[in-house]
Amino acid sequence: MSNKVNLKDFKENFKRISKYMKSSKKNLIISMILSIIVVIIYIVLPIISADMIVKLTSNMLYELLLITILYYILYLISSLLGFVSEKLLMKVENEIDYNMRVDIAKNVLKFTDETINENGTGTITTRMFSDTKEASNTFDGMFRVISQLMQGIGVLIGIFIVSKIMFIYIFIKEIIYLYIVKLRAKKSFEKDKEARKVGEKATSLGTELVRGQHDIKMLNAEKSFKNKFFETLNMHIRKSYEKDYINIKYDMYYDACYSALEFIEYALIIYLILSKHLIIVNAIVIVRYANETKYIGYSIDWFLKQINSFNLSCNRIFELIYSPKFEKEKFGMKHLNHINGDFEFKDVYFKYDKKEVLKGMSFKVNANETVAFVGKSGVGKTTIFNLLCGMRTGYKGLITIDGNDIKNLDRESIRGNITIVSQNPYIFNMSIRDNLRLIKEDAKEDEMMKALKLADLYDYVNNLPNKLDTVVGEGGVNLSGGERQRLAIARAFLQKTEIILMDEATSNLDNESQESITNAINNLKKNYTILIIAHRLSTIKNADKIIYIENGVNKAEGTHEELLKKCPGYKKLYESELIKK
Ligand code: ADP
Repeated sequence: MSNKVNLKDFKENFKRISKYMKSSKKNLIISMILSIIVVIIYIVLPIISADMIVKLTSNMLYELLLITILYYILYLISSLLGFVSEKLLMKVENEIDYNMRVDIAKNVLKFTDETINENGTGTITTRMFSDTKEASNTFDGMFRVISQLMQGIGVLIGIFIVSKIMFIYIFIKEIIYLYIVKLRAKKSFEKDKEARKVGEKATSLGTELVRGQHDIKMLNAEKSFKNKFFETLNMHIRKSYEKDYINIKYDMYYDACYSALEFIEYALIIYLILSKHLIIVNAIVIVRYANETKYIGYSIDWFLKQINSFNLSCNRIFELIYSPKFEKEKFGMKHLNHINGDFEFKDVYFKYDKKEVLKGMSFKVNANETVAFVGKSGVGKTTIFNLLCGMRTGYKGLITIDGNDIKNLDRESIRGNITIVSQNPYIFNMSIRDNLRLIKEDAKEDEMMKALKLADLYDYVNNLPNKLDTVVGEGGVNLSGGERQRLAIARAFLQKTEIILMDEATSNLDNESQESITNAINNLKKNYTILIIAHRLSTIKNADKIIYIENGVNKAEGTHEELLKKCPGYKKLYESELIKK
């Protein structure tokens, strides 16, 4: 990206961000009108103050009093209007901020798992919070600067009317300022871009440091992690410093230049008075006006910076929302109101990057069957579940639910009918009640208790001092692995979808809990299609069908007894488990 203002980007970003203004479009227009009135008052005030001096020197004291009153009334009105205009702009900023964050959140929930893994949560949260703030702030900032610029232009016109020579001089002065300002914008833009890039990396690492602090401590990896983090942080601070240093360096050039040019300006005014080309009153007006022009250069600089900053932030935000780099899950259009729960995989191939995991996987599951998938770790059992839920796409072959190709089904038909209980369920840092209500907003107390009973968690929750209102900590840290899993299972029971996928969902449970969950699953058996990935084969012996996976294909399927007879791989796996016991 060049350091110049990218007008094409700006136009596109402006259009996109305007969509986030709903009720506040009106506020923005009113605020601009008020700003114009303030600008006019500011152009008029120097003329009045010059007139005040004339009245004073002519001893017209009554007129002086009237005109002084007018001066302060106008001054008061401009302050008041400025205040209202600022308040309205703040409302605009807040609305944009809010709507943008909501939009990002909606999009994040559509991202594929790969997108999140590849980009990191830090990158996304930085864009969701810092960049949105920056974008809305600079958006408003541009309007603030526009009113300052209008004021500057008005003042220049005023000077032109009073003295053409002074206008030419001040105009040249502004061009010199602008040159310095442009130089500064060019240098600081590049640095700003670098600083933000490293800043994003530092936030990502910082997020991981906080989230992974437990494991970092347990692995005794504090030193290496700290070094990595400090290095990035250091680089971020250095880049930010370089950017700020450029700004203050050019501020100094600007001020030095300003003093020199101001000196020449006064000398010129004195010369014009002495040579009778300028009367004193006009000279006073010009001095007052010239003071105001000091900010034209700053305003243009600021305006360019705001646009660049606005573009930078918006590009990063809209990349999240619109760019194919942040891939979204794709679903079809077909909606099924009800599904029976039949599944089929027909010759399915799937690979992660270059690693082929499924190599012609085929199997069939009938509605209300309980089917278990077994096989060594890494053979692709979880991948099958992820494909079924539409969490992963890009496979070859055919996957159907009730005879419908899942590529044609809409999100609700798939996700609304399948519940997945994973090996490491994410429990939100909320109360147990709220965790359950995330699944079913209107869940009644007795419904929740029933789900907890089915998941064998009822006694545990009942014995907690705050019962359902107990907050479980981030990721459910206040719960044991088994309790987390049982809470996830309770969520699944509450969801009551036709299809329940259990991905080693009972692996963290002790034998007793595992047995009661197995019983609970048995209770559901006749009415639901249940797919289980089991760590311990003893828990799925009663499944209607067991599919043994080897080398990415369905090697054999049947009941436990059948597989023991016909599948040596399964037999070996089962026997190795018996030995471990
Ligand atoms: P299982 O559930 O049978 O243990 P998985 O379906 O989880 O196996 O994984 C199958 C293989 O794919 C494993 O070798 C695993 O390392 C690999 N794998 C899983 N997820 C990813 C991923 N996101 N990127 C790359 N490889 C992956």
